[in-house]
Amino acid sequence: MKLEDKGNVVYSFSAQHSPVAELAGGETLVVETADCFDGQIHETGQILDAIDMNRINPATGPFYIPFAEPGDVLEIEILDIKVGQQGILVSKPGLGVLGHELSSQEVEILDLSAPSVTLAPGLTLPVQPMLGVIGVAPKEGEAGCGSPGPHGGNLDTQEICSGSKVFLPVFHPGALLALGDVHALMGDGEVSGAGIETSGEVKIRVNIRQDMQLDGPRVETDQGLYILCSASSLEEAIQRASLAGVEYLQAVHNLSFSRAYSLAGAACNLQISQVVNPLHTVKFFIPHSLMVLHK
Ligand code: CA
Ligand code: CA
Repeated sequence: MKLEDKGNVVYSFSAQHSPVAELAGGETLVVETADCFDGQIHETGQILDAIDMNRINPATGPFYIPFAEPGDVLEIEILDIKVGQQGILVSKPGLGVLGHELSSQEVEILDLSAPSVTLAPGLTLPVQPMLGVIGVAPKEGEAGCGSPGPHGGNLDTQEICSGSKVFLPVFHPGALLALGDVHALMGDGEVSGAGIETSGEVKIRVNIRQDMQLDGPRVETDQGLYILCSASSLEEAIQRASLAGVEYLQAVHNLSFSRAYSLAGAACNLQISQVVNPLHTVKFFIPHSLMVLHK
């Protein structure tokens, strides 16, 4: 799916959006994605506040998945992520966890043509592409692409990368999948409010799962399973992600709640995806040895 026609992006997830294409279960598609500034940043030193903020976080789509029905689960295999030519590094007063410490903004264009990226002289890091925004039409109303939720959205979870699978609940016929916001690199928390932002090409394959039930996003990697919960406070996200994790362990291992709770305490990791979006996202990690494969 090319981006040449700007009609191929949305800035929110909604059942009201008309699909740009159909994507059948089992079919592979390469989706071009715009960077989170929608291509409005071209040069080092550009003024961030001068860009059109209504065009932040575009997602390519939505794609109509035939036969996906409410109550199903959409499995999206992330087969490959290619980053664009340029990476964008920004810092700005008010942005991120320590934005109050800044007095001026910085915008820098980085070269992403090599497998590693240079942030400062002598400071080079390997590019590790990940996908910030992936979601379906939410159960009710419209969800801006800047926010995460049960429908997915701006999850900013670094495990959403090549080789992982994303599972999302389907709320509307056809699911209406959209994705965007590739990062060349992003750390847990996304503390500065941004990673190395870039455009990309994301190769996906979708499958409709009628053997699963979900009320929020999950990510499976070769390491294990991440249950994602987003809430307005970190505390609430921690509570909900932990409860979902313990209930998962209870169900798949046929344990009492208290024993599953102890198992979680002994062997599972509570981690932060991001704390800079309108809702914060926590990930409850269940190692491979304790999960039941989603196949
Ligand atoms: Ca993001
Ligand atoms: Ca970002």
